[in-house]
Amino acid sequence: MSETRELAFDPDQLREKYRIERDKRLRKDGNEQYVEVAGEFSNYIDDPYVSTPIDRPALTDEVEVIVVGGGFGGLITGARLREAGIENLRIIEKGGDFGGTWYWNRYPGAACDTESYIYLPLLEEVGYIPQAKYAKAPEILAHSQNIARHFDLYRDVCFQTEVTEMQWDEQALRWIVRTNRDDAMRAKFVVMSNGPLNRPKLPGIKGITRFTGHTFHTSRWDYDYTGGSPEGDLHKLADKRVGIIGTGATAVQCIPHLGASAQALYVFQRTPSSVDVRDNRPTDPDWAASLKPGWQKERMENFNTLTSGGVIEEDLVQDGWTEIIRNLISMANYRGKGLERKEIERLMELADFQKMEQIRARAQEIVEDPQVAESLKPYYRQFCKRPCFHDEYLPTFNRPNVHLIDTQGKGVEEITETGVIANGEAYPLDCIIFATGFEVGTDYTRRAGYDLIGRDGLRLSDKWANGMRSLFGLQTRGFPNLFILSNGQSAFTTNFPHSMEETATNIRYIIEQCRQGNVSTVEPTQVAEDEWVEEIIRLSRVSESFQAACTPGYYNNEGQPNPTSAQNSAYGKGPNPFFKLMREWREEGTMRGLELG
Ligand code: NDP
Repeated sequence: MSETRELAFDPDQLREKYRIERDKRLRKDGNEQYVEVAGEFSNYIDDPYVSTPIDRPALTDEVEVIVVGGGFGGLITGARLREAGIENLRIIEKGGDFGGTWYWNRYPGAACDTESYIYLPLLEEVGYIPQAKYAKAPEILAHSQNIARHFDLYRDVCFQTEVTEMQWDEQALRWIVRTNRDDAMRAKFVVMSNGPLNRPKLPGIKGITRFTGHTFHTSRWDYDYTGGSPEGDLHKLADKRVGIIGTGATAVQCIPHLGASAQALYVFQRTPSSVDVRDNRPTDPDWAASLKPGWQKERMENFNTLTSGGVIEEDLVQDGWTEIIRNLISMANYRGKGLERKEIERLMELADFQKMEQIRARAQEIVEDPQVAESLKPYYRQFCKRPCFHDEYLPTFNRPNVHLIDTQGKGVEEITETGVIANGEAYPLDCIIFATGFEVGTDYTRRAGYDLIGRDGLRLSDKWANGMRSLFGLQTRGFPNLFILSNGQSAFTTNFPHSMEETATNIRYIIEQCRQGNVSTVEPTQVAEDEWVEEIIRLSRVSESFQAACTPGYYNNEGQPNPTSAQNSAYGKGPNPFFKLMREWREEGTMRGLELG
């Protein structure tokens, strides 16, 4: 086949290799393989960053809006509501400060893979330019706190407070928000901004509770034990044998620091990540000075168009994400236009093979031991797992104190009092770090950490037991005056803060309309909600064949087809058409599809 000769790889062979690698990893228990961080494991989510627990009386007062979550979603919503003149606004946050993901994830090397100039929200409003193209966690945390200060969100915040239940009071037309501090606060409107990856998970490895050494999850890094800071220099590990379980995006960032500091580091790998070039660089002050008002929105939209498959001449961000899409498009252009869907899919697969060959060649070039290099090569399509970008990860495996334990998809077999057993061999360890990620496929209310009781005692967990039901992913019938920030049934963007920004604009609009029209309650009509759910399912781009061919992970529900994935998916026409739809809906000015009381 001439195409195969041109390509320098055989697609059939690669497809078969991908299948073999996937099959090694498929397991019947899917999401059930993980242990819920509760009960005897609840210490894994204690807050290690708070020095003085707050002590305050329980609150039973009333505010106009309660926002649950002080991460980017809560901050952006808070900012937009403040701009709309809403003074009586309270944010409830389980951490000790604002920041959400960036409050919790302080592990050494933590940074964001999305360009800082589009990822950090409200840069123009706050008057800040990030220090480099890719921002590190401490800078993002500091920016979060700056947003809160700028928009006066510290004024009425409840930190170290976890919501335990929200109940609609039909007589008073108010939400009662209960917390672990015995609060029973009331609010006319509530916004749920719990975050998409907020609940750490642990592997259900036999013997996990038996280990007598030290353990923690990456999202609660124990610097008292390791020494050092998010910048690295984990000097207290100099005499320690450290094991890390997991090699996802988090592990890729902290392993170089562990490798540089630990006496010995054992990396227990089940599936390798794809690790491409990072090439970070400091912000050019001349470029920063040249920016014109409105630049951030323009840049975010440019990136969003390119990463959602749109064609646009100029690529302002020019990074790994836009390059991936450029490759796919150029492949289709190279072969000609007006192709059948099947043919486009075939060409996309070829472009994907080509990209992953390049990723595998990178491991081959950088890692000196050929066997270790081979173990670090990912054999799956790039979007089966979160693509990673790092320049120090692969070279870390050239250090003599760093040992890759390739479990060939099987994972760690057992944890004992003294260490880990993998591939039948015992590894004595002083410390085990779990880089095993966060819950994704579990129920929304379990991940939120609380249930909602709406009108007539209806529970959100029951209403959504067979899939999400909403209008625009934002509101759900039977739960008046409630707003939800999530990807489900709304927009999915590579740059998540972009869709939060659009959602916050909608929330602001609806609350302003209610204020102006003296509206007491707002929720979707049954018809509008049903139609939206149908539309989401009809347009769903969840490709079952693509997902089934993927190696297991949280992108494909751990390799188990989920009957609700189409219903819970994002708007299938893509983020820009969704944002346009919302803009037009607002411009209509009639609150179409909403029932006002
Ligand atoms: P992930 O869910 O991506 O990774 C979990 C890791 O744990 C996987 O390597 C998984 O292996 C492994 N694992 C699970 N169980 C076992 C077991 N029993 N034995 C051995 N290994 C096991 O979590 P992360 O925290 O790395 O990342 C979560 C998400 O957070 C990312 O996908 C990304 O969206 C975001 N993130 C973004 C960053 C950025 O912008 N740079 C940085 C960090 C995180 P397997 O693959 O085989 O399942």
